[in-house]
Amino acid sequence: MDCLFCKIVNGDIPSKKVLENDKVLVFHDIQPAAPVHVLVIPKKHIASMNDVQGEDYELIGEIHKAAQEAAAQLGIAESGYRLINNCGRDGEQTVHHLHYHVLGGARLGALTGISNSHA
Ligand code: AMP
Ligand code: ZN
Repeated sequence: MDCLFCKIVNGDIPSKKVLENDKVLVFHDIQPAAPVHVLVIPKKHIASMNDVQGEDYELIGEIHKAAQEAAAQLGIAESGYRLINNCGRDGEQTVHHLHYHVLGGARLGALTGISNSHA
């Protein structure tokens, strides 16, 4: 399958790994939007939030667990962070393999919502 994040899971494309187990992978975002910016992905290919099935809910729990562990490992658990999933066009999803952004290491500001360029 021609999927960027599946290639990262398979090791065909290198990534800066933070943690990994048999179900999930956490790696640094190539274009960080905050001092700490990592992506948490399931190893299983799921295209988007819309494609999560009942059988995947345990996996979503694993993703939250990995996000929590990565935050602790990266030293932002106490200061706080944001966990974000972008879904579909309006969510500005660019990679169609389910992923959650963990952003932290600075005050992130309030969520602003609609961006002028797309409103
Ligand atoms: P989204 O816009 O929510 O689909 O997020 C996709 C994210 O993947 C963006 O923040 C990109 O910077 C990031 N990204 C794209 N290619 C790579 C890569 N090869 N390694 C790490 N992160 C990447
Ligand atoms: Zn994939």
